[in-house]
Amino acid sequence: MSIQRTFSIIKPDATRRNLTGAINSKIESSGLRIIAQKRIQMSNTQASEFYKVHAERPFYNDLVSFMTSGPVVVQVLEGENAISAYREVMGATNPSMAAEGTIRKEFAENIEANSVHGSDSDENAAIEIAHFFNKDEIVG
Ligand code: ATP
Ligand code: MG
Repeated sequence: MSIQRTFSIIKPDATRRNLTGAINSKIESSGLRIIAQKRIQMSNTQASEFYKVHAERPFYNDLVSFMTSGPVVVQVLEGENAISAYREVMGATNPSMAAEGTIRKEFAENIEANSVHGSDSDENAAIEIAHFFNKDEIVG
């Protein structure tokens, strides 16, 4: 067990439906701390780069359009085993497969518009955090 940081995005389907607070409440009730947060509009370049591991997938262009379709909230979360803990709070990628009580079960619209992103490894968390936050924006 160790204190980790993970990177989170509240996606455009959720900001559009005014769910930022409801999602933050789920994050905080799980014990994770939101130690940095800002609302931004992702550019096409940022979204393409962010999801480039999926560049060959059939849903890639749609995904980039979706992620730039409205504001997102980018966050740094901190806590005990934050990477896996947050993925548990998020629930499965496809909301129809997500467990009861998870963010995606409760709020996601479909497999694409699934309300939140969370890093999948320590290495990616560090890369993603550094991409969206300066060190002086993370005050703990
Ligand atoms: P994220 O990376 O956003 O945290 P994830 O790790 O659960 O989600 P990935 O497999 O990395 O899922 O997919 C990245 C994102 O691409 C998903 O969150 C979803 O928005 C979209 N996506 C994944 N699979 C599909 C699909 N079959 N059809 C449409 N969109 C998809
Ligand atoms: Mg992923």
